Amino acid sequence: MIYDDFTMNKAHNLYIHVPFCMSKCNYCAFYSFACKNPDWTEYANNICKELEYWSQKLGKIQIPTIFFGGGTPSLMPVATFEKIMNCVNQNFVVDKDCEITLESNPGTIDKDKLSDFVLNGVNRLSVGVQSLNDEELKFLGRRHDVKTAINLLESAKNMNLRVSADFIYGLPNQKTKNVVNLCENINKLGLSHVSMYELTIEKNTPFGKMNLNMPDNEEMAQMYNAIPQYLSLPRYEVSNYAKTGEECHHNLNVWNGEAYIGIGKGAAGRVYLDNTWFEQRGNFECFEKISDGTRATEKILTGMRTMRGVKLSEDVKNILNFDWINSHKDLVAIDDEYLHTTDKGLLILDDIIVDIVK
Ligand code: SF4
Repeated sequence: MIYDDFTMNKAHNLYIHVPFCMSKCNYCAFYSFACKNPDWTEYANNICKELEYWSQKLGKIQIPTIFFGGGTPSLMPVATFEKIMNCVNQNFVVDKDCEITLESNPGTIDKDKLSDFVLNGVNRLSVGVQSLNDEELKFLGRRHDVKTAINLLESAKNMNLRVSADFIYGLPNQKTKNVVNLCENINKLGLSHVSMYELTIEKNTPFGKMNLNMPDNEEMAQMYNAIPQYLSLPRYEVSNYAKTGEECHHNLNVWNGEAYIGIGKGAAGRVYLDNTWFEQRGNFECFEKISDGTRATEKILTGMRTMRGVKLSEDVKNILNFDWINSHKDLVAIDDEYLHTTDKGLLILDDIIVDIVK
């Protein structure tokens, strides 16, 4: 898609945050809160106010992807979603092949509701499955069981949606062989996109107050290494695996350093206006200029997490330490104007990031 820079600001991806959940999971430190009866009218009105504001500021820009994240976006009544999508369509030019993702939790959405979301534009469903073991799901504080999760994945596949599932590994007392087993069971689900997140214990969560017997660092590293060996999908980002072409376009765009707007309290964005980057947070909480150097550093931080790597654009090249890069070919490599880690480098990504920037 070619955008005319003289008449229109850059295209922006949209992230729309839905902060409500049925209850809080035991590990969750995300901005979300348990609310059985949210005021959806007020929520939709606030989201639409923000959308209108950005349309006035940036013009009727192109929207390549929209991601409804949470919280639990699948809790949203379809009428609320429809209202928000109408507002998006009135204020922006939504690409014909726009990827529209809805994050969901099993038990909050049935076949009929999913079908109504699809009629209103959703073409990708991300499902918080988290585990394929009912005991583990209970321990994590999830409200659903395995069967409900698998039914939702099947319904979505039958509707020809692009489907992704999230899983958590590294649970207390878990061993690498359990993660291998999890991967083998995930393979049987025939998914084209899977996210595998390591359980991290955050303060101010129920898990943070428990004295849990977590796997040690070595075991965690073994688990991390086992995933690409046993999962049938290739890794395209530190925690994400997909068939080629089935990657999450929204996340890839954000990781590649493209512009995006965060809508709703708890959302963050990087807005590009009048040749300047701005840090932005939803609910009008923040709009601050950031330097090109800071933005280039951010691109390196997110780009290096992807297997393709960070594009060597001028701003990125300006802050890279090529002496270090050229003398550490076992850890990093350059292909087709992208700098990426080798398999060995990926294991020490956090250290590499510090070294590759001047
Ligand atoms: S459903 Fe997701 S956002 Fe909501 S409490 Fe659980 S982990 Fe947090």
